[in-house]
Formats: sequence, structure tokens, C-alpha cells
Amino acid sequence: MSQATPIAIIGAGYAGLSCAVELALRGFAVTVFESSRIPGGRARVAAVGGFALDNGQHILLGAYSETLRLIRRVGANPERLLLRLPLGLHYPGELELTVARLPPPLNLMVGLLRARGLSWSERIAALRLTSTLRRNSVRLDGGSTVADLLATTRQPARLNRLLWEPICVSALNTPAESASAQVFANVLRDALFADAQAADLLLPRTDLTRLFPQPAVEWLNRQGHKLLFGESVRGILPEADGISLRVDGQVRPERYAGVVIATAPYHASTLLADLPQAAPEKALIDGLTWEPIVTAYLAYPPEVRLPAPMIGITGGLGQWVFDRGQLGGVSGLLAVVISASGRHQALQRDDLAQALHGELVAILPGLPAPQWTQVIAEKRATFSCVPGLLRPSVQTGIDGLFLCGDYTQSPYPATLESAVRSGVACAQAIEAASHQ
Ligand SMILES: Cc1cc2nc3c(=O)[nH]c(=O)nc-3n(C[C@H](O)[C@H](O)[C@H](O)COP(=O)(O)OP(=O)(O)OC[C@H]3O[C@@H](n4cnc5c(N)ncnc54)[C@H](O)[C@@H]3O)c2cc1C
Repeated sequence: MSQATPIAIIGAGYAGLSCAVELALRGFAVTVFESSRIPGGRARVAAVGGFALDNGQHILLGAYSETLRLIRRVGANPERLLLRLPLGLHYPGELELTVARLPPPLNLMVGLLRARGLSWSERIAALRLTSTLRRNSVRLDGGSTVADLLATTRQPARLNRLLWEPICVSALNTPAESASAQVFANVLRDALFADAQAADLLLPRTDLTRLFPQPAVEWLNRQGHKLLFGESVRGILPEADGISLRVDGQVRPERYAGVVIATAPYHASTLLADLPQAAPEKALIDGLTWEPIVTAYLAYPPEVRLPAPMIGITGGLGQWVFDRGQLGGVSGLLAVVISASGRHQALQRDDLAQALHGELVAILPGLPAPQWTQVIAEKRATFSCVPGLLRPSVQTGIDGLFLCGDYTQSPYPATLESAVRSGVACAQAIEAASHQ
């Protein structure tokens, strides 16, 4: 594979753009095809109620080292674009727990000691689970679920409801009864046991397109690479002298030394359908199942303010509520997030918004009716992170054809960080292939 012949990347989400930037840094020419008019994929700006908001609220962690590195590499400033807070769970009137900014394991120990709303037996049980994971002293067979792990480490039901189940569903976008204990353990280890900052919550103060995708596009443009928006790749045609692409019904004249499919997995499956040599990768993708994420925006008068930028909701349909006003956005605008499948799916959007307003009134008594609401449901937000999942590698059975995205092989669930890491791994694989 020659560096002089361009590499085509299909998809300008976090994975595709990370791959493009890494390839450019390694001296490759890249052409990015993106079917939408804006970059960012599942983490992108959307017009909501006349404002530039996101298709869904995203939380990053201090442990997202590759995402932070690439944001800086393309000239953006994560310190300005992200609000960094110590990892905390705020359930007004029920639980206040903030992980201390101390080296592990003191971070959690001190956090649990200072927590309000936990009994001593609940604090001890929480430490039992985390020290078990830290010492690696629990055998998690490939089939264990998070619910199994919680039972094995004798976690009280209230701790599960307030702590472990919300963390599991937010991190893995999969309910504890069906989520992989191994992946849950990987996330907790990296966030809680790495260093004092790894557990920090990083809340975007800008829209998700401006956080990384737009700066990456501008950086690539300045380096002379090609980015083509509003162009959907419909076919991948391996030839003797490279790979050509069918874009919106027309076969392009260019030959590419390599092609990276950086789309969501279900779109990758469609692109692989005509390529029998990639049948094993397609079969792995077709084995994935999906979980939704719903974001409901509710607009209140500007003086409405939550006790913290992000708080938890218990016992209802909503899971977290974000105060966009405290995150550099519109004052009085609250965003309620519901990860994974659940009872909320039975409701019509207006009824769901009404039910969520009722849950917010319980937190902010006297809250007036919302001025407007908008519910955005991403039906296939991520793959279900179930035990024993087989995920495809970035390499395929076809010379020069690669995959990247949040669903490729990784110890982590589908997140921005796994998308970015997959893009970086894919660029490394392309560079290695170019030396063969
Ligand atoms: C509502 C929601 C909330 C989330 N919350 C979090 C969170 O809090 N923290 C976190 O870390 N992660 C979160 N995630 C997950 C995160 O957004 C994804 O893991 C990540 O964005 C996936 O990036 P990707 O590049 O792999 O794929 P995508 O973002 O899906 O990018 C694929 C791109 O390919 C393009 N494309 C598809 N087909 C074609 C084609 N034929 N030709 C050209 N282009 C094509 C698409 O338009 C898209 O731009 C959330 C996801 C959602 C939906």
C-alpha cells in the first residue's frame, strides 16, 4: 500500500475523523466521504427549539486520554470546551457522593466516608466491590452480567439502585441484568483506579460537533486533505490496482490504496453485503443488538436552575438531568437523559415529556410548565454491551479494507473514547500494512 495513493474514509464521526487525523500525521493523503452535511455522527449538533444543541447529552471522563489528546492535536482546547468536575452522584434528598481528587484507592474511600445518605453497611459494601475489582480477585467468566457481579459481592439493593445500576446503564448503555460484568469492571478500573483525574466528569460546554469533529475537519482542510459532505458511499469495489467506490450511484474514477469503513455498525454491514471475503466481519456485526438513548429537552424560564450542572433522578423514567444554563448554554433549559431500553419506550413523545416534567417538579417544587419540549430518540444509539460479545477487528479479510468505530474490538463499551481509539488503531494498522 503506497502512501502516495490516498486512503478513503467513509464516515466523519469521531472514529473516522480520528483515523483521518492520525493517517495525515503519518504522511498519508486522505479523502473523507460523509453522507450528512455536518460531521460528528452520533455525537453531533442538532437544531432543537431554535438552538444549536446536541442529538444527545454526552459525558466524557478524565480517562478519555486519546479523545483529549486528539482534541488538542487539531488545535481545540479541552480545558475551555469541557467543564471538569470531580465524579459525583447528586440525588437531592437521597445521596450526595463525590469521588475525592486523591490518588486511588483514597479517592473512593474518602468519597464514601464523606458521602451523605449512605449507611455504614452500604459504604462497606461499595468498598468491597471496588477493592475486589482492584485486586482482580473476582473471577468474571465471559458470561457474567453486572447483576451477577453485584450479587457475588453482596451489594445492598439500595446501593444498586442509587449507585451501580445508574453507573452501569450510563457507561454501558445496557441494563445491569444483561450488561457484561467484564466490560463494567474495565470501565471502573480505568476511571477509579488509574489516577486522581481519571474519574473526573467532563461535561461539554459546546456542542459535540464543535468539540472535536469541526476542528478536525478544519485541521484536515488546512493540510490539503479532501472532505466531501453530503456524499454517501454505496459500494466498495476491490480492483487489481486498488479499491474504487460507488458514491451516490456513480463509480468514482479514483483508486484508493486503502478504504476505511468508519460508519455505525449497521451501515458497515450494508456496505459489506456485496463483499463475500468480508463475510466473517459482517456476521460479527450482524450478531450485535442495539440499545436506545432518549434525550428530552424541556425549556423553562431563565431563572430555573438545578442544584448542580448534572443531577440524578431516582424512581422515575428519567435518569440524569443536565442544566444547559450551567454548561455555557441557554439558561432554564434542562436536558433529561434516559439510556437503554425501558418502560419509557411505551410512551408517545409528548406524554414522555409530560412525565419527565412531573419528575423535575419533585426535584424543583414550584417549577412552572415548560415553554416547549423536544424529545430526541436515538433508537440504535449503541450496541448492547452483553457478556461474551465478539467484536470485529479493524482488519478485514480484504487487502486494503479496514473498519473503525465504537463497535470494533476493545475492552470498552461504545463510547467516544472507544470510537477514537478504534480510529487510531486503524491508522496504525494501515501504516503497518504500507510497510509490508
Ligand atoms: C444519544 C447518545 C448519547 C451518547 N452518550 C454518550 C456519552 O455520554 N459518552 C460517550 O462516550 N459516548 C456516548 N454515546 C456514544 C457515542 O456517541 C458513540 O460511541 C460515538 O459517537 C460513535 O462514533 P463512530 O465514529 O464510531 O460512529 P458514528 O458517530 O455513527 O459515525 C459514523 C458516520 O458515518 C456516516 N455514514 C454512515 N454511512 C455512510 C455512508 N454510506 N457514506 C458516507 N458516510 C456515512 C454517518 O453519517 C456518521 O457521520 C452516545 C450516543 C448517543 C446516540
